[in-house]
This record gives sequence, structure tokens and C-alpha cells, in this order.
Amino acid sequence: NRCFYFDETNSTNAFMLNHASELESGDICVAEYQSAGRGRRGRQWLSPYGHHMYASLFWRLNLDISNASGLSLVVGCSIVKTLQELGVEGLGVKWPNDIYLEHKKLAGILIELSHHSDRQTELVIGFGINMSMSVEQGELIDQPWSDLSAMDNMPDKTMLVVKIHQQLKRDLVLFEQQGLDAFLQRWNNNDLFINREVTLLMAPNAVTGICRGIDKQGAILLENDQGTNAFVGGEISLRAN
Ligand code: ATP
Repeated sequence: NRCFYFDETNSTNAFMLNHASELESGDICVAEYQSAGRGRRGRQWLSPYGHHMYASLFWRLNLDISNASGLSLVVGCSIVKTLQELGVEGLGVKWPNDIYLEHKKLAGILIELSHHSDRQTELVIGFGINMSMSVEQGELIDQPWSDLSAMDNMPDKTMLVVKIHQQLKRDLVLFEQQGLDAFLQRWNNNDLFINREVTLLMAPNAVTGICRGIDKQGAILLENDQGTNAFVGGEISLRAN
């Protein structure tokens, strides 16, 4: 595989999407700084220079788009597993695309589609991880955040990206072969909100209930007086009650 390394770029996802036709599954892009790091629905991922990870992996998934819907959960499980194996404790996942440390946001995942057919989905999987955030940098983030600075032996960025890259490739192949079934247990073990009361915001509506984990399509299961129902879609945000 190839690694494209930038001191500075607008967005590692944007770079990979722009070069998708020349890329192979497993190629990765890493930057020290993003001038326009992206979150979901046009939101921003704050990407100060140095000391953090901004990376995007390109992958041609041997599945059609309708079967790729749980992919952000797979990526969340994969990054959490890598960090846990490096000794990080207190990690958790929040449906559908966030990784928390001590209940504060450590990392974000943004999957963007470059092309799809009825057999294949070409994707860019972006992730940002806060490694060592200064107070000044952190003041610009409008929700509670965390970083890896409390780690006993914080790996250098190269080692971390190599480990995540290896784990992601393994997990993407597993997902292609076995679907989300292979990840349900891993997700539920790390789900911060399982069996807790949450609200799903789906502007202009909201629905409250007890989170019962995810189903085989990656939808979130919510139990309330309507029964247990599955919710899925890029417009949904989960909030703890
Ligand atoms: P949702 O619950 O809908 O996923 P979200 O707040 O997790 O909402 P994302 O699109 O996943 O939204 O991430 C973007 C948001 O993350 C930003 O609006 C900001 O609040 C927060 N954020 C931005 N940069 C960072 C960062 N470096 N570390 C932690 N949080 C950040």
C-alpha cells in the first residue's frame, strides 16, 4: 500500500476522494494539519497542527451500498481495539461514529462514498484522533473533548497509524466476509449508552427510550412504550438523557 503524507492539506478525505480512481484498497493519507477538517453534515473537525492524527483510508468494499451501512461501527470497533491493545483504558463508542475517552470525545470518524455499483462500494474512511491537545487548542472545541496525553507510553504517530491501518484492513476484510455479525459483541461491549436512557434527535423530531445496542444492519435499537424499534440514517444524533 501507499501512504500519502502531508504537512498540511485541506482535508485528508478530500484528497483521497479527489484521487479515488488512482487508489487501491488500503492506501492511506496522513496529515499534520487540516485547514478544513470535516465532520458529519458539514460540521468541522478541529485539526490543529502537530501532535494529532488526521488520516483517511481508501477501500473498495466488495458489497453494495445497502450492505455497507454499518461500516462506521466497524471502524469505531477497530480503532478502539487498536487503542485498547496499546493499553488505553476508559474508551467507549457512541453510535454511530464517535470514540470517547472518559466520556469525552477523543476521535471522530467520517466515511464518504466515492463511487458505488451493485457489487462494490468505493469509500474513504477518515478519522481524527486527539493525541496531545493544548489548552488553547481545546478551547476552540464546542463540546467536552479528551486526548491520549494521559497514556503511559504514548506511541508516536507513525506507530499509531501503522497499527490502526493493520487493524482496519483486517476488520474490513472480516466485515466483507461476515458482515456486522462479527462486530455486534465488540460494539455492545464498548457502547457507552447501552441500557441507558437516550434521545435520538432527528430534526424536527426526537424520540426517547432505552438504548438496546445495535441490530445486524447497524441500526440503533431503542426501547420505549412503542416497543423496541430500530433507527438508522445519517441525520440522527444520539444524546444521553
Ligand atoms: P453527532 O452526535 O451528530 O455525531 P457530533 O458532535 O459527534 O454529533 P460529528 O460530525 O461526529 O458530530 O463531529 C463534529 C463535532 O465534533 C464538531 O461539531 C465539534 O463539536 C466536535 N469536534 C470538532 N473537532 C474536535 C476535536 N478535535 N476533538 C473533539 N471534538 C471535536
